[in-house]
Amino acid sequence: MAFFDPTATVKELRGTFDSGKTKSYEWRVSQLKALLKLASFHEKEIIDALHSDLSKPELESFLFEIALMKTGCKLALKELRSWMAPEKAKTSMTTFPSSAEIVPEPLGVVLVISAWNYPFLLSLDPVIGAIAAGNTVVLKPSEIAPATSSVLAKLLGQYMDCSAVKVIEGAVPETTALLEQKWDKILYTGNGKVGRIVMSAAAKHLTPVVLELGGKSPVIVDSDIDLKVSARRIIAGKWGCNNGQACISPDYIITTKDYVSELIDALSSELEKFYGKDPFKSDDLSRIVNSNHFHRLCKLLDDDKVSGKIVHGGQKDITNLKIAPTLLLDVPEDSLIMNEEIFGPLLPIITVNKLEESFNIIKSKEKPLAAYLFTNNKKLKEDFISNISAGGLVVNDTAMHVAVSTLPFGGVGESGMGAYHGKFSFDTFSHQKAVLLRSFAGDLAARYPPYTQKKQKLLRALLNGSLIGIIRVLLGWE
Ligand code: NAD
Repeated sequence: MAFFDPTATVKELRGTFDSGKTKSYEWRVSQLKALLKLASFHEKEIIDALHSDLSKPELESFLFEIALMKTGCKLALKELRSWMAPEKAKTSMTTFPSSAEIVPEPLGVVLVISAWNYPFLLSLDPVIGAIAAGNTVVLKPSEIAPATSSVLAKLLGQYMDCSAVKVIEGAVPETTALLEQKWDKILYTGNGKVGRIVMSAAAKHLTPVVLELGGKSPVIVDSDIDLKVSARRIIAGKWGCNNGQACISPDYIITTKDYVSELIDALSSELEKFYGKDPFKSDDLSRIVNSNHFHRLCKLLDDDKVSGKIVHGGQKDITNLKIAPTLLLDVPEDSLIMNEEIFGPLLPIITVNKLEESFNIIKSKEKPLAAYLFTNNKKLKEDFISNISAGGLVVNDTAMHVAVSTLPFGGVGESGMGAYHGKFSFDTFSHQKAVLLRSFAGDLAARYPPYTQKKQKLLRALLNGSLIGIIRVLLGWE
């Protein structure tokens, strides 16, 4: 990485912001269009980089990285004028006569730190929000996906206004140096340990943060379902999302003891249809990102507490960093695999006597980023929605909420804070400025000293919104 001076970088971006250039509608549109262009003109280069970093299948790269990013960009372009428009607010009798509005204004200079698993989307999706809201921005992609990081640095350098949008590549030292600077907002995507580092650094400058973290996202499976469709949708959210290396991938399944064999049979049969008898030969599964993560996953699998629990898969290929889609049955609660986010192709299944017990299992853990339920039972759906706290919930599918831009995307508790996507991205990078407009008419003497009993009575009547009370005080009847 070329030498960079974080202080000078922020100073330059603050200068650009202070010039007012990034506030204009035209500038924002030009930058959003530039993002769209770079994604369209360089699709192959981006897909190749994602393949080099993760062996990500082309269809997944196109759909979940490029197309999702472009959809976000197009939505911002379509809605920008309405998002930027001040919103009228009601006023009360206390300030009569007056009008009020909420004016969204950019925060200033923002930092986006992204993760390796969806290195293109997770870098540019927040940048869309930052630009749409009129900020200048530094993007720090993940060093663990070096090919994508380098493509991002090259393409953003080529297409974007470099006085306002910069990519700083690097690892811990570079990120640490960036975090020492004063930012107006930081959006960080990654694990909770580093999330804490980011939040402590931000606290020094009272910088607000969005932390997009992960967690153990459960899937509850009832028995009154379309089993084939459910199995396919669980597989699509797990192995079809970067081979389980996705923050909203199913982390573990809970089902009843009576139903589990049917579920395992369906999952195994669909897995074989999708990836063949030898999944290592399939081009449709990402590899494990690097040997550190490969060994981390092997440790979960080699834990004595789960030996003999594998009911499907389990094969490992260290040379090519591949682990087969793996199902484990009845792993103990105190096993390693049940005590950290798996973030890979292993899927444990826990069994209960009654499905309702699953709620207590989920609630005994930290709040997850996503929770899923497969059922046709109306009461169970309602109980799930009202009882389970998670970043997002999906009934009868997995991971699809991420594609609904009218829904906020973010965690709660250990799975993160703040949210983005669609208008929520714009709001995340804006300050909602409260503006009250008054004229010189209606100057109420009661608010000024000397404070008298009559003035107090009048103010009380005003605050109570009692027109009769006001008249009575003014007529001296009170
Ligand atoms: P990562 O290793 O790419 O790290 C994320 C970023 O943090 C990188 O840019 C990295 O350079 C930086 N970083 C690492 N160590 C640092 C340090 N000591 N100080 C400052 N910066 C540092 O990604 P990861 O953490 O392995 O990502 C996986 C985690 O992210 C999982 O928990 C997953 O659930 C979560 N995730 C969440 C979302 C979401 O949208 N909520 C999306 C993807 C991943």
